Amino acid sequence: MKDANCIFCKIANGEIPSQTLYEDETFRVILDLGPATKGHALILPKEHHANLYELPETTAGEVMKLAKKMASMMTERLGCEGFNLVQNNGDLAGQTVFHFHMHLIPRYRADGQKIGWKPQEVSQAELEAVKDQICQE
Ligand code: 5GP
Ligand code: ZN
Repeated sequence: MKDANCIFCKIANGEIPSQTLYEDETFRVILDLGPATKGHALILPKEHHANLYELPETTAGEVMKLAKKMASMMTERLGCEGFNLVQNNGDLAGQTVFHFHMHLIPRYRADGQKIGWKPQEVSQAELEAVKDQICQE
């Protein structure tokens, strides 16, 4: 399924040109136009799925396999010293293009980027309550 109004559908299926690092029947891996670091890339499924919730399980598994392959190859070629996988779902979580994608972000010493969060204080009781909420029957 493709979405006629989706830019990543057009890029993934070759209707809009991109710097492509890898392509097969299911995916295209492209360089991000607004890179966090040198080599920042995106794994795009060719089919339109808005986010992780809508992604078929098989595709989800294949995404992680491809991420591993790309991270290894890019680390060797770019000489980066670390690597972040980032995947945003929903505008509250930072998603701006509503076609599932996985960010591949090579990390370099002193690259000036920070991908993270501010850890909060939590009690054991609060942790248990959250666990019970998630794991309820
Ligand atoms: P999100 O914020 O949805 O997780 O990530 C969207 C990413 O897509 C951003 O990093 C942004 O720079 C990138 N992006 C947006 N439009 C285009 C485009 O037309 N071409 C490419 N190559 N990247 C894009
Ligand atoms: Zn799409």
